[in-house]
Amino acid sequence: MKFYNILLLCLSAATALLLAACSEVTKPETITEKAMAAPLTKTTLVVLGTIQDAGSPQIGCKKACCKDLFDKPDPDRKVVALGVVDASTNKTYLFEATPDISSQVKTLTQLEPNSQNELVDGIFLTHAHIGHYTGLMYLGKEVVDANRTPVYAMPQMKTFLENNGPWSQLVVRNNIDIHALKADSTIQLSSELKVTPFLVPHRDEFSETVGYKIQGPNKSALFIPDIDKWEKWEKDIVAQIEQVDYAFLDATFFDSVELNNRDILEIPHPFIIESLEKFKGMSSANKKKVIFIHFNHTNPVIDTLSNAYKRVLQKSFRIAQINEQFEL
Ligand SMILES: [Zn+2]
Ligand SMILES: [Zn+2]
Ligand SMILES: [Zn+2]
Repeated sequence: MKFYNILLLCLSAATALLLAACSEVTKPETITEKAMAAPLTKTTLVVLGTIQDAGSPQIGCKKACCKDLFDKPDPDRKVVALGVVDASTNKTYLFEATPDISSQVKTLTQLEPNSQNELVDGIFLTHAHIGHYTGLMYLGKEVVDANRTPVYAMPQMKTFLENNGPWSQLVVRNNIDIHALKADSTIQLSSELKVTPFLVPHRDEFSETVGYKIQGPNKSALFIPDIDKWEKWEKDIVAQIEQVDYAFLDATFFDSVELNNRDILEIPHPFIIESLEKFKGMSSANKKKVIFIHFNHTNPVIDTLSNAYKRVLQKSFRIAQINEQFEL
């Protein structure tokens, strides 16, 4: 009996040790992950991805930014997308159909437990570059064979989808139901949610490019994941930021170092250092609205321990983090 007790004691001690060892290697739960578990009761915007079209790691990249990620992928690195839960209608809306759409739709629909819709209630597209629309393929016959998922698209984007395979098959089979958008014309999704597309300059090979203004019952957000230099836009970005509560802005590159010191002016995106300069005169309240997003795999701000990341935060701006929530 005594021996049996000692054996039991040894076994439980060994189990405790094993559990302690296991919990040490388990990634600690972050605040945002905890928040994600709770369903939303108010109309809220959630960040579903922060990386540029190509993802991270990027195919063929042998540099330090991606080298270890092929063996150990980081589940937080998803292609840029926002989600919105409309608490007044229990509906969910996705901004961008990325190659990571499967997990992004799951994350979003889990935040709205009152809806039985495993797919979202609408997808808003910005333009026809691979990170922003190719996720639509997962709505087709080879996958979920969706039944008329509403897709909101500008006229050229709509024509592109209707006239080019494999996208045209989604239209013919009624997997998607394309709603035509008009620039600067507001779609009223409910009493609590409005969306307005607006044109922005970008290399528009297959479609025009838009950004969105997303207006909730109390707050509004600007979403401009891809744009040419701020100066090429007919609108004044600083004035646009002043009119909203959050501004998710193109931050593809930090500076020219990640592009082997190529001329900044040649690259058709506002570099983060250019935006910091352009926004430096804004009040700190307005600076806090700026949330940089759409990071190239080379962008040092993806690493929250980098000097680049710290520099942006020191100047009162923000770097988008996956699963972050913003009440609208
Ligand atoms: Zn992009
Ligand atoms: Zn890389
Ligand atoms: Zn683009």
